[in-house]
Amino acid sequence: MMQKLIGPFKQIVTLAGLPMKGAVSDDQLEIISDGGVLIEGGLINAVGNIAELHKQYPQAEVQEIESPQVLLPGFVDCHTHICFGGNRAKDYAMRIAGKTYLEIAKAGGGIWDSVTQTRLMDQETLEKDLLKRANRHLADGVTTIEVKSGYGLNVEQELKQLRAIKNVNSKTSASLISTCLAAHTLPKDFNGSKAEYLGYILNELLPIIKQEQLSNRVDIFIEESAFDKENGHKYLLAAKQMDFGLTVHADQFTPGSSEIAVMCGALSADHLEASGYKEIAMLAASDIVSVVLPGASLGLGMQYSPARKLLNAGACVAIASDWNPGSAPMGNLLMQASVMAAAEKLTTAEVFAGLTVRAAKALNLNDRGILQTGMMADMQSYPANDYREILYYQGQLKPQYVWTKGKLSTT
Ligand SMILES: [Zn+2]
Repeated sequence: MMQKLIGPFKQIVTLAGLPMKGAVSDDQLEIISDGGVLIEGGLINAVGNIAELHKQYPQAEVQEIESPQVLLPGFVDCHTHICFGGNRAKDYAMRIAGKTYLEIAKAGGGIWDSVTQTRLMDQETLEKDLLKRANRHLADGVTTIEVKSGYGLNVEQELKQLRAIKNVNSKTSASLISTCLAAHTLPKDFNGSKAEYLGYILNELLPIIKQEQLSNRVDIFIEESAFDKENGHKYLLAAKQMDFGLTVHADQFTPGSSEIAVMCGALSADHLEASGYKEIAMLAASDIVSVVLPGASLGLGMQYSPARKLLNAGACVAIASDWNPGSAPMGNLLMQASVMAAAEKLTTAEVFAGLTVRAAKALNLNDRGILQTGMMADMQSYPANDYREILYYQGQLKPQYVWTKGKLSTT
């Protein structure tokens, strides 16, 4: 098989050898100076000093990098809602003028507005818009993107969203990982209780998702405005029985639902802005990934999730964008992570790990997020001499090159 040697890179930050949980200092980062990467069949075959790789693999085709670049694994955004119709600029204006998230929802705005607009959109337009967002993320170095449904809220419309995600996955070089979030909120037009709605999703929707292989992940929003802990717990256990991987929108406004995520063996508990000492200790003691979403804090003007405390307690912390039309419309993952790092006092190593290998764990993917032999060659390089410049420019420094499965991506 053809081998391709890419380099030289001023620095390669491999993210190899880091602990999956807890605090990490920058001197734990493996940094290869004057590095190169040997690609074969879409995978990384070797990472090392470029001169040595040239000697070892003289027959490899060379992709010369002519300006100083710092190479990282592609980012993994493990929590987004980028399959939607319309926008919520009106909500945003209300919110910055002082209305709360719950007030806007109760006034008929919020998620329901996106549901209405997404239902009205035909599948072709939905796919076109999703592809645009996925490719924008890819150009920003995000090579794996989780995408949730949750703006359909009935069988037909949730399937429309999940089919759109599946179709767009074959049209972009980014990897899209879909998640069924039919349990986002009780739809206004459902004739029954919250428990009955969850039963309807379990019986009528999830079997079709399995059958059509549209997703192997299920998410639920457990909160006052959405579903309670008891119903949420039952729903998650039933979805687990059907072999779905689990994730939970937890502790966003009130603490407690992260406990349900841990009890059900979820892959991740996401949000955690309201997590207190008890929740932090429990998350840290478990195998779950704690996903923090600075974009939602910025959009809602609320406190960041306690990333520093979670890391100090020993949790596995990933950072995702929560890109969605309501609370996190920006969708700039690197900017959000950089700004949160300054507020929460995170090391560069913790931020990079949270955007790569630890985020991959939240999606149950162990084939990416680290630049080492055998991993998928999803990579990005920044025009810089030193890796510290990447967070320093707070998202303004963009990757110059992005590779997916070893191929330079053009979007
Ligand atoms: Zn979300």
